[in-house]
Amino acid sequence: VNDSYGHGTGDQLIRAVAAGLDVLIPKGAVLARIGGDEFAIAFLSDSENAAALQLAEQILDFLVEPLEIGRRVVVVGASIGIAMSSLGTIGREELVRRSDLAMYKAKEAGRARMMLYDPSMDADREQRNALELDLRIAIESGDLTLAYQPLIDASTHAITGVEALVRWNRPGHGPVSPELFIPIAETSGLIESLGLFVLRKACETAKQWPDLNVSVNVSPGQFRNPAFADYVRYVLKQTEIETGRITLEITEGYMIQNPQRTRQSIERLKALGVKVALDDFGSGFSSIGYLRQFGFDRIKIDRSLVMGVNEDKRQREMLQATVALARSLDIPVTAEGIETEEQAIAMRLFGCDCLQGYLFGKPVTSDLITEMLNE
Ligand code: C2E
Ligand code: CA
Ligand code: CA
Ligand code: CA
Repeated sequence: VNDSYGHGTGDQLIRAVAAGLDVLIPKGAVLARIGGDEFAIAFLSDSENAAALQLAEQILDFLVEPLEIGRRVVVVGASIGIAMSSLGTIGREELVRRSDLAMYKAKEAGRARMMLYDPSMDADREQRNALELDLRIAIESGDLTLAYQPLIDASTHAITGVEALVRWNRPGHGPVSPELFIPIAETSGLIESLGLFVLRKACETAKQWPDLNVSVNVSPGQFRNPAFADYVRYVLKQTEIETGRITLEITEGYMIQNPQRTRQSIERLKALGVKVALDDFGSGFSSIGYLRQFGFDRIKIDRSLVMGVNEDKRQREMLQATVALARSLDIPVTAEGIETEEQAIAMRLFGCDCLQGYLFGKPVTSDLITEMLNE
């Protein structure tokens, strides 16, 4: 059960959900709260999957309606996993384990979904566990590396900075994309040590480029920790980097769920002298109204939006409006994912002062950045 407003899973909310479920479940079924915001329903049925699927659908339908909790209206979603057993063939614990696994699969697939257990989920889980283990070892033994992608001044085309991007060459498997292992680091508690490694390495490396800004990506899992700003201060001090050259890039997902805490965290980071950028803007919620209050130093327009610039008129207009909005707040704007000359020209025309993308340079080793600077 997920409370979309981030008010946490207060007991009132849990009781309201439980009451709703209680009405829905068939006679003789058992409804149990099995932890925090997780519920289990067990029942006997003479139909194969049909009864369970129907019940799951009814629960999702029930949760579509906002719940009234005191004077608050709360939208709640559920991810549902279903496992079946012919009487006695599968033990109780195994049944719970299977439905739990299916529930996690449903969660991964997006909000408000149900999923039937199937044995391939076990294989997936095993692969994922193996990956997680290797990742843990890689972080502990410092086997991750950083690539750096140039950030380009839109007018002069000079390199003004770099974005640090983590790279992992998994032994026996080859390179693994951060799009795959960052989410795993997030859910397995590895993100903080990974993030610290990246920040420290980026700050150390930045010292050889006194004229460049260095951007570092920050995951919601790091940002969520109230002590995050303390970590950052510690690393900045330890590496003796000029704080004004460091930009932390954060994405909007977390921010929308926790505007209050986000604002506080950003204030604390800015008090350290680092800059804070809003990453992937336009890719998700586009919480335009929020922007001003957070005090971002920069906004990065997501590649998915930039890609459409020469596609059709509507996409182009939307992109233009997005950049114009950011600029009306006096926030400088970077366009990421520039691959063609046309895109570069258009984004500059719209008012982006900074460009990034394969057209100007792919992410490369720090040595290659140094070479580029000496050219
Ligand atoms: P991002 O922060 O949006 O980073 C930009 C991604 O787009 C990078 O992918 C970059 O290589 C790619 N890219 C840049 N220019 C172009 C282009 O012109 N064309 C195309 N097709 N792609 C381009 P990468 O390195 O695979 O990273 C993917 C995502 O993983 C990043 O997206 C970021 O969200 C996350 N990530 C990467 N490194 C870190 C890190 O150190 N910490 C955290 N928390 N996340 C990271
Ligand atoms: Ca939950
Ligand atoms: Ca980024
Ligand atoms: Ca992006």
